[in-house]
Amino acid sequence: MQFTLPRITRKLGIDLGTANTLVFVPGRGIVLNEPSVVAVSEYDNKVLAVGAAAKEMVGKAPDGILVYKPMQDGVIADYRVTEAMLRYYIQKALGRWNIVKPDVMISVPAGITSTERRAVIEAAIKAGAKSAYVVKEPILAAIGAGIPIHEPCGHMVVDIGGGTTDVAVISLGSIVASTSVKCAGNKLDTAITDYIKRTFNLAIGDRTAEEVKMKIGSAVPLEGELRMTIKGRDFLTGLPRTAEMTSNEIVKAIDTELRQMIKAIKDVLQETPPELAADIIDKGIIMTGGSSQLRNLPELVYRKTGVKAVLAEEALFCVAKGTGIALEHLDTYKRSIIAKR
Ligand code: ADP
Ligand code: MG
Repeated sequence: MQFTLPRITRKLGIDLGTANTLVFVPGRGIVLNEPSVVAVSEYDNKVLAVGAAAKEMVGKAPDGILVYKPMQDGVIADYRVTEAMLRYYIQKALGRWNIVKPDVMISVPAGITSTERRAVIEAAIKAGAKSAYVVKEPILAAIGAGIPIHEPCGHMVVDIGGGTTDVAVISLGSIVASTSVKCAGNKLDTAITDYIKRTFNLAIGDRTAEEVKMKIGSAVPLEGELRMTIKGRDFLTGLPRTAEMTSNEIVKAIDTELRQMIKAIKDVLQETPPELAADIIDKGIIMTGGSSQLRNLPELVYRKTGVKAVLAEEALFCVAKGTGIALEHLDTYKRSIIAKR
């Protein structure tokens, strides 16, 4: 008779994003992808739900339930909530029967302070990790995008997520120049909401704005325009109504935000030493993160900077994949990039 033992997971990579948290297991891939949301009871401060279950409560929670997005601007706003979130993700990824404590690698924003970094490591250990490593997100995004980061060659990674746009030039395994601006997917949604309010006198919800952005949004005007019917509530009458929106209106609506993203890229290019800048011209800019998938965003980057830009394969998963790859090759990455406890 043959027994198949459940596979024991000893290593977990976690992409703690503003919008989504992903868990990657080497050999298995992404095992979990849920919103970074936590619901907490106001009275006794108890964590009621995490992830998808908590997101469903957004906008529908009765009094007494607070719905947190603990990673609002790419930083951890609340230590306790973060620990609860990490515990939930670690346990869910491991399964109920797993008693082996895992090694955990977590992505952190490039601008994180050493105190904040220690807080993440502490939270992971308290949440059940045997050991915890943290690596800066742009490095992980680069690894996940397949960039050979240890080469003596400059590479630029632009990760545009929900809360922040992170731009970094990497050479020999470390960050040479970088910046982070609080302008990314969420700000695009808000800009679209504002535009629809101004232009059509229509109130729409966050989810509608995001849907419009993904379905017909574009970073540069399209020749064959896309259109979409938007449902919302009329500001004057208070009654439900629809309006027609085109992709070129979205280009206009998000112009200010796109400029901020481009400025961040230009700022870093201007700080980059000439030798590395030459490499970047050759290799092009690699774009990762969910918002890099906005239609024609790489094209806009090319037009505004003169440097070719390409969307990484599986742009949404690069950071998570990077955590997995770094975990599998801890020895290679340990020296240069990892802060451990
Ligand atoms: P974070 O790392 O901050 O959690 P993600 O990399 O998961 O963020 O990206 C989430 C963001 O990507 C959201 O703002 C979402 O609206 C946006 N996004 C996802 N897919 C698309 C798409 N096809 N077009 C434009 N934006 C997208
Ligand atoms: Mg991210």
